[in-house]
Amino acid sequence: MWPTWAGASSATARTRPVTTVWLAIGEDGMSSGNGKRGEPRVTIGRRDFFKVYAAAGVAVLQGCRRRDQELIESPVRRSTALPGASVWRRSICEQCGAGCEIEVRTVDRLAKKIEGQPAGFVNAGGVCALGHSALQELYHPDRVTEPMRRGSSGELEPVSWEEALETAATAIAAAPDATTVVAGAPSGPLLGLWRRFAATVGAPPPVHWQPADAVVAREAARLAFGESTRPAYDLARSDYVVSLGPPFLDRWRSPVHFGAAWAELTADRRGKLVQVEARHSLTAANADDWLPVRPGSEGFFARGLAGLLLGSGRVGEEERTVYEALYPEAPPDLAATAERCGIDADRIEWLAAELARARRPLVMAGGSALESENGVAAGAAVLALNLLLGAVGREGGVFAGVDFGFEDRLAGDAAAALPPAALVDRLARDGESRVLVVSEADPLHGMPGLEAAFEHAGTVIACSAFFDDTALRADVVLPVQTDLERFQAVEPDPVRGVPALLIASPTVAPRGEARHPGDVALALAAAAGSALPWSGFQEAVESALSDAFAATRAAGDEASDPVALPASLIAGALNARQFVRRTTDAGGLVGTEEMRRAPAAPALGDADGAPGPIPDPASLPAPAAPAGVESFTLIPFESLKLGDGRGANRPWLQELPDPLSTVMWGSWVEVATADADRLGIHTGDIVRLTGTAAEIELPAIVLPTVRPGSVGVPVGGGHAEYGRYARGRGVNVNALLDPDRWVAGAGVFARGELRVRIERLRRPRRAERPVIYGRGLRQAEEIPVGWAPHDGGKA
Ligand code: SF4
Repeated sequence: MWPTWAGASSATARTRPVTTVWLAIGEDGMSSGNGKRGEPRVTIGRRDFFKVYAAAGVAVLQGCRRRDQELIESPVRRSTALPGASVWRRSICEQCGAGCEIEVRTVDRLAKKIEGQPAGFVNAGGVCALGHSALQELYHPDRVTEPMRRGSSGELEPVSWEEALETAATAIAAAPDATTVVAGAPSGPLLGLWRRFAATVGAPPPVHWQPADAVVAREAARLAFGESTRPAYDLARSDYVVSLGPPFLDRWRSPVHFGAAWAELTADRRGKLVQVEARHSLTAANADDWLPVRPGSEGFFARGLAGLLLGSGRVGEEERTVYEALYPEAPPDLAATAERCGIDADRIEWLAAELARARRPLVMAGGSALESENGVAAGAAVLALNLLLGAVGREGGVFAGVDFGFEDRLAGDAAAALPPAALVDRLARDGESRVLVVSEADPLHGMPGLEAAFEHAGTVIACSAFFDDTALRADVVLPVQTDLERFQAVEPDPVRGVPALLIASPTVAPRGEARHPGDVALALAAAAGSALPWSGFQEAVESALSDAFAATRAAGDEASDPVALPASLIAGALNARQFVRRTTDAGGLVGTEEMRRAPAAPALGDADGAPGPIPDPASLPAPAAPAGVESFTLIPFESLKLGDGRGANRPWLQELPDPLSTVMWGSWVEVATADADRLGIHTGDIVRLTGTAAEIELPAIVLPTVRPGSVGVPVGGGHAEYGRYARGRGVNVNALLDPDRWVAGAGVFARGELRVRIERLRRPRRAERPVIYGRGLRQAEEIPVGWAPHDGGKA
């Protein structure tokens, strides 16, 4: 049962909104009643009902339509005047790696509405704003729907699939070992196929374009637990949660899953959430307590808490022994922790006392805590704190993020994918990346300083549904299908600690000539003379299922066979064929709670298995501020609106007010009231932020909840292209990142603890004013027809 909860607007419970209550009319045109999901029947939805009556006014309204409304209405306009049957089709949201199961209302094979599946493995009926907006991705007027190739004029021109594949494959075949594949697919079968592709054509292992903190979390778990796994936090069954960094109600891993878990935690005030995060995020705003820790000191904070717990007399002997083997040095004392982290000693002491008293305490690590140069050490310190609390592998604690291994099954013997640093490395070494194959990723937008490095790339091949910043630079663009158009096989983010493989058939027909990215990989390999044994992605997945069945059968009760599935999953299937059909018909394979397990080895060890020390964040020096210049700590954050930037091309999300600043349609910088007063900055003023590598200009929003000395800027804006709603809108804060700062040991950029200067420039000109929700109708009335912020009205 989905609990009711309010405040965190990133996820919506699966209640049927008013506009989707149906007035169902039977085929005889007489009977009425509520339509049943999944059953085709003749209906007139409420919206369609009004549409009939509104038809007469359409011609008048066409004349004063705003450009962004065209996209919102296009699915409706494309349907027939009298709609046909409403059919709900099962699908999987692939807008992020969470893998929420959804239902899509289709009419005449056009998708109209997305809702969460009540029985969804991860989401249990919820969908976030980004998930809802997948419709606008599908029907976006600026989709790439045909292959393109850069012609002699220097412009991209439409070509046939054969021509595009031939150009791309010739470049790959000419320099296979100088080919770099960048795959944006989350861990799972599709990433496995790209690994296989790279190995088959003779290229080095692909670069996996993924959230930075996912890479850091796995490395931290390898150090603390001895297993490289993304931890699964059992938030719902804990009774006291200290969240060090992860803004899980905003945009982190699965906001839908964690939103529901948080509601369960806090229902009837059963449990408590303390958010320890530099920025006042939506999660911090909804927490019972918020400790605005100094950015970059989260690991130090975890060690300080451990010191207080060790002195509390409430720690078991076994846990103490393991912890002290990990950290032979004494933890920092209370005064040092308070000083370094910028939190009152009383509050830290109080937090440690409450943690020690809790029955099922849990400490989570993520987000900004893992994004500084010391991110791995900070993540490991938090996981070690869970060891000290006895929270590893117990209800309400930390579990291993397990999966069924379908990525490896499709990859075969191909090597594991590499972190983003490998791309910079290869581009930097002249001649090592003469060919770049980028699939569903936009490194030119997400990584600082890559423009110059891209000059070293010869042929760039982009597999993309849009002209994002990378596709714009490409020599060949291969159009790919979006979520709802394609066969799906997804291993969801293991937030529950239970493995799953989710499968769904296409919901609607693909637009134009777009193909499945997996099919593109297979076609490219074949064109390059290195054909793989499958004709399409679906066949590859079914073949992997078939192999898994055979391995499980052969293993019998030998659970030690690494390629075998749990025997219970194949029970009742007579042969591989029947197993594959049964699995695809059932929508995949889902594990049980019994399959949850603790990470492999709570005590890490050296080669002999003895516990050994891990990097101590308390021993790392705090970064010094540049002398003589007042500087601020920049906190780039992912908002629930645009995420990492993927959502920037959808008006629904651009128009969604940010839950805290209420800004719409653009970027902003959050400045503390105390700092703003001192610097003479007012809300709406245009300010300049100057980093070591670049400077950006954007409007300021003055908020009393910002930690003085820091400024927050959302990522995801400032695309050079990416369609008419994203082009040039907002600023790209990634430009401020220092391309030479990395999270030690993880191969991802460090975007935490970056120092910037801020200066007020001017009151905003009309087109520069931030659009702030709730300013009143006056501001809305001022928006001219066809106007969009920051582009002077030229949509
Ligand atoms: S959390 Fe991710 S998968 Fe789930 S609905 Fe939102 S975008 Fe889609």
